Amino acid sequence: MAIDVHDGGCMCGAVRYRLTGAFTYSAHCHCRSCQRAVGAGFVTYSAVAPENFAVTKGKLAIYRSSPGVERGFCGKCGTSLTYAGEDWTDTAVMTATLDDPAAAVPTTNVYLDHKQPWVVLDEALKAFPKFP
Ligand SMILES: [Zn+2]
Ligand SMILES: [Zn+2]
Repeated sequence: MAIDVHDGGCMCGAVRYRLTGAFTYSAHCHCRSCQRAVGAGFVTYSAVAPENFAVTKGKLAIYRSSPGVERGFCGKCGTSLTYAGEDWTDTAVMTATLDDPAAAVPTTNVYLDHKQPWVVLDEALKAFPKFP
């Protein structure tokens, strides 16, 4: 059986990463922290087990946005790339930074308590006021 391989990276190309194995989840996060981190209404994440994530070019710059949380980004162009932390079992990447963002299909909306009124939801997805 073929192993899933998904490459991605930042806007300038200085940082590249590779995911191997199946996605553990894909979700839209509407929390205020994510909104600010990327300057958008919400962030779409796709995650893999930590051992299935590797930086293949360059180095992630890290910003600790909450205790125990590491947001990885490109120190050169500023693209937000990853989200990981001690309370999280998976390493998540910003789905739109995948070379093929359509490869991951979001199933869930989280942190709807923080959703902006101008964001229109796909009501078919699972929905949580905070994190499930
Ligand atoms: Zn970059
Ligand atoms: Zn969030």
